[in-house]
Amino acid sequence: MDREMQLILDNFINNKDANDSELAMLIETDLDIDSELTIVLREKADKIRQSIYGKDVYIRGLIEFTNYCKNNCYYCGIRCGNVKVNRYRLTKEEILECCREGYELGFRTFVLQGGEDMYYTDDIICDIVSSIRTLYTDVAITLSIGEKSKESYESYYKAGANRYLLRHETATDEHYRRLHPKELAFETRKKCLYNLKEIGYQVGAGFMVGSPYQTTENLVADLRFLQELQPDMIGIGPFIPHNETPFADAKQGGLELTLRMLSILRIMFPYALLPSTTALGTIHPSGRELGLKAGANVVMPNLSPVGVRKLYELYENKICTGDEAAECKICLEKRVENAGYKIVTDRGDVKKEYK
Ligand code: SAH
Repeated sequence: MDREMQLILDNFINNKDANDSELAMLIETDLDIDSELTIVLREKADKIRQSIYGKDVYIRGLIEFTNYCKNNCYYCGIRCGNVKVNRYRLTKEEILECCREGYELGFRTFVLQGGEDMYYTDDIICDIVSSIRTLYTDVAITLSIGEKSKESYESYYKAGANRYLLRHETATDEHYRRLHPKELAFETRKKCLYNLKEIGYQVGAGFMVGSPYQTTENLVADLRFLQELQPDMIGIGPFIPHNETPFADAKQGGLELTLRMLSILRIMFPYALLPSTTALGTIHPSGRELGLKAGANVVMPNLSPVGVRKLYELYENKICTGDEAAECKICLEKRVENAGYKIVTDRGDVKKEYK
């Protein structure tokens, strides 16, 4: 490492921030997994993570309840323009069955994720949420169903939802427009995220790493946006192309860059809940273990019925689409242990408001 980089690194580690050009250098310099810079950032991130969360890894049971979507995001495999998708919807009973199985396995957070499917009106969503809430008083219920009005978000919250995941995808307007059709705008996303926060949800934002046209400056803008929003959760994973999308031939996001971003996020947002994502596990056999070592502290195994898992294909070659929930949990437990951490039975709330 040259002297300039050493000074930037020392300052970043001590002050947990850097100016924009320094951040850009921290993001893109010496990305190898065993470079001195990578190791120092990773070790610092792990130290911070352990000082707050110990060796605990929180699990979230992911229930992908619909792959219908009215949106046509250029990167996503379940975009409405993909006519080759076999579409499905889970009934309330099927969703409750996933929760029952999950609860027995030790899950204390259920994440209901889906495309923006208008079949599920606010009344239906509220009915599903309140049914889960009545059966399980000690779980966190997380929704990840896209952009809605503030009134809709309020109704879900009143029905018993506690958390909401809505990745901001990219905090640069121009880049946002290159990833989405013109009906979708970063301003709207941002408004949704602030509405969710105001209502009282624990909020998760995040972005894809290596999405088409992404520059280092875009990533710096993502970090600045997150500093402004102060979310409780930050979900990142590599972009992975899907054949039936306009980005079929685009390059996949890098393992090393994703790991670097995780370490930087942990240092800048010590208390954040950072998942080591399925996308990371998809691009490398030990992706999720490496993610945990780089600063992540959450994993999100799939609780969806095995019969529909392959159909929720946001990107190609998605892992864990063939296993039962119980198998998924055992496999992940081993992986987490191999990485030096342990899965706990816990809601896994954010430890503190880090304002
Ligand atoms: N409809 C919900 C859920 C979207 S899927 C919503 O709008 O929030 C969850 C996340 O998967 C997205 O936010 C996106 O960041 C990610 N994703 C979608 N397509 C992807 C791809 N091709 N590669 C990697 N991640 C992708």
